[in-house]
Amino acid sequence: MSLLLPQSGDIPLPQPGPISEPYWQGCREGVLRFQRCLDCSAPTHTPALMCAVCASRSLVWVDSSGKGEIYSWTRVWRPVTPDFVTPYVPVIVAMEEGWFILSNLVGCEDDAVAIGLGVEVVFHSSGGADDIVLPYFQLVS
Ligand SMILES: [Zn+2]
Repeated sequence: MSLLLPQSGDIPLPQPGPISEPYWQGCREGVLRFQRCLDCSAPTHTPALMCAVCASRSLVWVDSSGKGEIYSWTRVWRPVTPDFVTPYVPVIVAMEEGWFILSNLVGCEDDAVAIGLGVEVVFHSSGGADDIVLPYFQLVS
């Protein structure tokens, strides 16, 4: 068993751009955001210019509750780059608002993960010069 912690090494980081900047700004403010279509109400994630359902360009940013449940997960022992501390547990979280996010589980032992468990977002700085704040998820009791 290993306690899952946020990555602290020199991992590859996202590069915020004009489309995704509101998302990353939300992370810096401790708010997880997603986009919602004004025409069909579908949620969209990752940040996009148009709705994935109806192709409308009328997307607005919405604050998420930050809560959801584990839809799928895996445990990684052989990382893409040696900068990642293993094991780590990527999770796909089904958010309360009906959208999905890929993240990592932290704050519990690596064998505590299971499909259907409730989770909530928690933010951690990458600690690097780029000062990216990343959304992770932790179990809720
Ligand atoms: Zn739409």
